[in-house]
Amino acid sequence: MVNFTIQNVLIAADDDYATVDVQIIDGAIAAIAPNLQVIGTPIDGKNKLLLPGFFNAHTHSSEMWQRGIMSAFPLELWLAELYDFAPLDPEQVYLSALGTAVETLLSGGTSVVDHLVLIPGLELETIAIATRAYKEVGIRAFIAPLIQDESLSAGIPSGESAQTHEPYFRSTAATLEIIEEAVRQFHRPDEGINILVAPTGIQLCTDALFTGCSELSDHYNLCRHSHLLETRAQEKLAQEKYGCTAVEHLKRIGYLSDRTTLAHCVWLNDADIAILAETQSTVVHNPLSNLRLGSGIAPILKYRQAGVNVTFGCDGASSNDSQDLLEAIKMGSILHNVTDSNYQNWITPRQAVEMASLGGAKGLNIADKLGSLTVGKQADLVLYDLTNLSLLPRTDPIGLLVLGRPTNVVDSAWVNGKQIVADGKVTTINVDELRQELFNRSQWETKRKSESVAQIEAHYRTVMGL
Ligand SMILES: [Zn+2]
Repeated sequence: MVNFTIQNVLIAADDDYATVDVQIIDGAIAAIAPNLQVIGTPIDGKNKLLLPGFFNAHTHSSEMWQRGIMSAFPLELWLAELYDFAPLDPEQVYLSALGTAVETLLSGGTSVVDHLVLIPGLELETIAIATRAYKEVGIRAFIAPLIQDESLSAGIPSGESAQTHEPYFRSTAATLEIIEEAVRQFHRPDEGINILVAPTGIQLCTDALFTGCSELSDHYNLCRHSHLLETRAQEKLAQEKYGCTAVEHLKRIGYLSDRTTLAHCVWLNDADIAILAETQSTVVHNPLSNLRLGSGIAPILKYRQAGVNVTFGCDGASSNDSQDLLEAIKMGSILHNVTDSNYQNWITPRQAVEMASLGGAKGLNIADKLGSLTVGKQADLVLYDLTNLSLLPRTDPIGLLVLGRPTNVVDSAWVNGKQIVADGKVTTINVDELRQELFNRSQWETKRKSESVAQIEAHYRTVMGL
């Protein structure tokens, strides 16, 4: 492992900044102080800001293939369109995982939670190829294979009508076996690859799938990940399905825990929020996706006041339509100023940085090792170039990084002490080749028609009162 010392770098210190040297030995932060002895390679940190790497705590990498083209639909119809055109080729999964990793890294993220859409019949191959992509880039990956055991139409409330749904093509037991096999083959936390249990959400999963996932999580010490109450339709559906809120139900069946991260959490009531606090569950805020799909504004300020841990995600690129983590952090902070006139509750840039770093580490049960510039923690670090035009003139570096529109500002990034971005470029893979592959395997397109949307749209409109 390469040791190095970043010299004369700016770091956040209380309400101010300090200029220090940071020694990295064997992948961990060994010392932070001015004028340290140089250990290993010296790195010039002058006019640069060092922050802990952020977490892109919820995305779906293969959605990259459909960014920019998805119709203006709410989630339930949008999903039907998405799956009609989802990539079915492992090579595409590989390329979009590379792309997701690169865009995450170049916007300050050193960890990614990929709620990975599995190709039917090629589930383990899908996980294997995403694993390979993340290892090649060197980003820390939390691969959360997206599973369900009910068919897509079951995710829409029935309303007054009696709806029947086709059974899902694979049994619950077979699905759980795939996840257990994925854990055996790919779960290597020490090598930066983690497998999570990740039932997609209450809208498409039975209790048997949730409890099976909880058992795997307990047995193999895995984090848990799900969507939760992203839309008003899901709130209705929970009442139909359980006669109580989704959060009450998930608590009852034991899915909520201090290593459970829940994407979206838009439609929760005050009692639900208290349950998230009590179970120490983490909310992953995906503000751009919630806006794009018209899902709503998650009550993030209420979560923070209740003591619920919150971090940020981009969500898949088809509902964003990028993977710019700094953009998600900016939007996820200032969006809430309109929800609370008491400006003392608004999220400050420094709080946003802590949510994006330590908040993600807490949610993934790894806060003892990641999420802050602390001696002894692993060196997942990002160095920002404060001479970049978008970070000038010199004001408050973190303020401008979060509130401005920083462009190409990541100078360097390390994961576990290994440098994977240098001089603003990812060094581990050939990004020019990746661009060429993405270009060659796609085409400009303006019109497509989703058959699945045609089948469910009338019912959706009726049940949602449209
Ligand atoms: Zn999602």
